[in-house]
Amino acid sequence: MPSRGSRSAWRADIVDGTSLSIGIDIGGTKVAAGVVDEQGAIVERLQEPTPSHSPAAVEDAIVRAVHRLSSRHRVVAVGIGAAGWVDNAQSVVRFSPHLAWRSEPLKAKLAERIALPLLVDNDANAAAWAEYRFGAGRGSSVMVCITLGTGIGGGLVINGQLFRGTYGMAGEWGHMTKVPDGHWCECGNRGCWEQYASGNALVREARALARTKSPMAHSLLEMVGSDPDLITGPDVTAAAIAGEPNAIELLADVGTWLGRGIADLAAALDPEVVVIGGGVSAAGDLLLVPAQRAFSRTLTGRGFREEARLELAHFRNDAGLIGAADLARHAMTEPPNSANSGFWPRRRKRKDRPTRLRGRRRRPRPVAGSGVAG
Ligand SMILES: [Zn+2]
Repeated sequence: MPSRGSRSAWRADIVDGTSLSIGIDIGGTKVAAGVVDEQGAIVERLQEPTPSHSPAAVEDAIVRAVHRLSSRHRVVAVGIGAAGWVDNAQSVVRFSPHLAWRSEPLKAKLAERIALPLLVDNDANAAAWAEYRFGAGRGSSVMVCITLGTGIGGGLVINGQLFRGTYGMAGEWGHMTKVPDGHWCECGNRGCWEQYASGNALVREARALARTKSPMAHSLLEMVGSDPDLITGPDVTAAAIAGEPNAIELLADVGTWLGRGIADLAAALDPEVVVIGGGVSAAGDLLLVPAQRAFSRTLTGRGFREEARLELAHFRNDAGLIGAADLARHAMTEPPNSANSGFWPRRRKRKDRPTRLRGRRRRPRPVAGSGVAG
């Protein structure tokens, strides 16, 4: 079982600057867990496929990872980044498009099995926090994070605080209408931004081009296999990096839509930096340069204002894990609103507490001659 102790013992670990925490990123395909230090470095990591069919199986996977990692490291807190809409008390996953969660009281269920301070947040919020703390948005005043995966995820950090909105739903800018009566979106509306600037948009357009059997599409089809329906986003990116002109154009189109949408966000939020992450960002400058051009061309007040920096995310797949771990550690010294709704584990009755714990509060002294050079 994870180590238990008093609230003050946990805080003492934070103050001495050496605390470790566990971050868990629950995506549609994998559960990634890791022990993260105060500089955002991953000390140890575990990964397994997400049992997406069943909330109970996901819960088991989380508990299993926490038990394994906390048996090998002295950790102070656990943060979970979940691919779903998390309420503002950071305890209930309202809905997850890729997992079986529907109004799932994830924190309450986990708190019965994990005796450590526990925080649940949206995975894109966790990723944004990692970029703000240790990555491309480090120390910025207003940071917008855009995660380009199958759709568009988002996170917003203002003056060192993750902004969640009143009900925890802020940052869903992938569903701002960009094209009235445009492509249908999973959210039920038409013309959402993510239908034009995301991995899904890239794949849809590449397949449409390939199906025309135009001579233009010939080299693209040759590079990705002859069946248009099997084309994936990474295929198109790889073809573009290898210099295939149609693939380069397809990515430039996504980049252009991205830049236009960022200009809208800049009109509303006036950020210092916009960090672009997610799978599509692996295209690097093939995406960023067209995005920058479209952004500068459509930004309101252009020529008479400072422009936000557009930066590629520093962390790739690890951002959610690192951010979740750091959010949980951060909550111990600056408790979020949810601190009153179960961040700290419930106090156990004296007779239930393991007796050996009192001796574990103190950090072990280094053993003379243990071979650790200073
Ligand atoms: Zn939508």
